Amino acid sequence: MRPISFFFALTLIFNNSFSQTNNTAVTDWCNHPSREAFSKLKEIKGVSHWFKVYSVGENLIAITEPYNFEEVISYLIIGKNKALLFDTGMGLDSISSVIKQLTKLPVTVLNSHTHPDHIGGNYEFTNILAMKTNYTLLHAKEGWGHDAIKWEVTKDAFCMQELPGLDTSRYAIKPFHISRFVKDGDEIDLGGRKLQIISVPGHTPDAIALLDKTNGYLFTGDTFYEGPIYLFAEETDIEAYEKSIAKLAAMAPNVKTVFPAHNNPVCEPARLTELKINFDKLKQGSVKGEDKGQNTFLFKFSHFDYLIQKDQLEKLQKQ
Ligand SMILES: [Zn+2]
Ligand SMILES: [Zn+2]
Repeated sequence: MRPISFFFALTLIFNNSFSQTNNTAVTDWCNHPSREAFSKLKEIKGVSHWFKVYSVGENLIAITEPYNFEEVISYLIIGKNKALLFDTGMGLDSISSVIKQLTKLPVTVLNSHTHPDHIGGNYEFTNILAMKTNYTLLHAKEGWGHDAIKWEVTKDAFCMQELPGLDTSRYAIKPFHISRFVKDGDEIDLGGRKLQIISVPGHTPDAIALLDKTNGYLFTGDTFYEGPIYLFAEETDIEAYEKSIAKLAAMAPNVKTVFPAHNNPVCEPARLTELKINFDKLKQGSVKGEDKGQNTFLFKFSHFDYLIQKDQLEKLQKQ
C-alpha cells in the first residue's frame, strides 16, 4: 500500500538530505526554500501566508508550498476565456482563495496524477477533468485517509511553526467530483491557448504531462522534477515509466521550458533528454546505485536522482 512507501520515502528524504540530528535537519531544510531558481523569479506578493506565488511565464503562475518538505508546485495557466489549474496542492490551506485573487476567469482543474500532494484542493472546485483509470476513480471517490498521509504533516515536515487553523491530527484529502474524463491527445482550449494532454503512466497509472504548444511549455508532474524521482511505490510501473520518458525525451527539441510539480519550478528542456539517458544507464548497469535499505536503490545524477525499488530494477535489467 502507498502509505508504507510514502512513509519510507519521507524517512529516506530526511536521511538523505540531513546528516545530523532531526533538529539540524529541520533547520537545514527550512533554509532550503531559498533555492537558487526562486531568486530569479518574479514573486506575486500579498496573496497568501501559506502559498508563495510566482509569475513563471506567459500568463503562467506557479503556486508553491515551500513550508512543507514536499515543496509541491501547482500551476495556473491562463487563457483568454478560461484558466486551467494543473494540480491543487496539499490541501493544507485554501488554494481556491489564492486562485480567486489571480484570475476572474472560470477555472478548470486537471491533476498531473492523484497522489495526495497534488489533489488536496480539488474539493474546492466544481469543474474537474480527470483520466479514467481505476487509480483516479479510487482517489476521487475516497480521497486519502488520515492514516495514509499523516506522515506528510509531522512536526518535521513543516518549516513554519504551524499553519494557523490547521489541525494536523485530522489532515486528510477530501474526495472530489469528476466533471469530465479526458484521454491521451485531448486538447483543452483556454482561448488563444491550447493545452494537449500526454499520458505518461509509470510513476502512477494516471500520470499525465501537459503541453502548451504555443509557448513551448511542458508540465511534467512527478514524471520529472529536479530531486529524487520516486520509482518504488506499489502503483509505480517501471516499464511504463521507461516508455513515458522516451516520449518526453523525443519532445525535447520542441520544448522551451519544463515545469515540474516539485522543487524548482523552471527547468531546462535538456533535462528531458537526460531523463532518458540516465535511465538507460541504470538499466544497463553502467552506474552503481546506493543501497538505501528497505529494498531500494538511489542512483545519483547531476540534476536529479532516481529512487528505485530493487525488484523493479531487476525486472528492468532482465529485459
Ligand atoms: Zn507523485
Ligand atoms: Zn508529488
